[in-house]
Amino acid sequence: MKVWVNKPKCTGCAHCFDVCPVAVFQMKDRSGAEANADVAPEEQQWKGQSDPAVKAKWESVQDGHKHFADKYEDRSGGLSVAVSGDACILCQACLVECEGECITITDDNGQTYQSIYK
Ligand code: SF4
Ligand code: SF4
Repeated sequence: MKVWVNKPKCTGCAHCFDVCPVAVFQMKDRSGAEANADVAPEEQQWKGQSDPAVKAKWESVQDGHKHFADKYEDRSGGLSVAVSGDACILCQACLVECEGECITITDDNGQTYQSIYK
């Protein structure tokens, strides 16, 4: 299984980190060296700019998450990196919880699954 996060669309909500039963995701500082430590294609890697449409949708939402913060602190912030995609069991829990609709999973047959926020 290959799993990656479209980093400019990641709000830092940490829902994926919270729900994944096999610890595929880790939350990383946006300014840190590990922000792109998964298999996201070049155009989906973190280069310091959030997607304007996702930012406009989530920036002012008050739901207890630190959207678009640099660091993960007190259960949100930073951005998600799929550091252990090989462990994915395709339970799909992350796919319905992802605010940024920015997780992609590809199985061993090449079928692709995309997150759609519930
Ligand atoms: S689909 Fe994979 S990455 Fe997503 S929560 Fe389930 S095991 Fe984790
Ligand atoms: S659920 Fe989606 S938006 Fe939230 S931290 Fe994970 S990848 Fe980013």
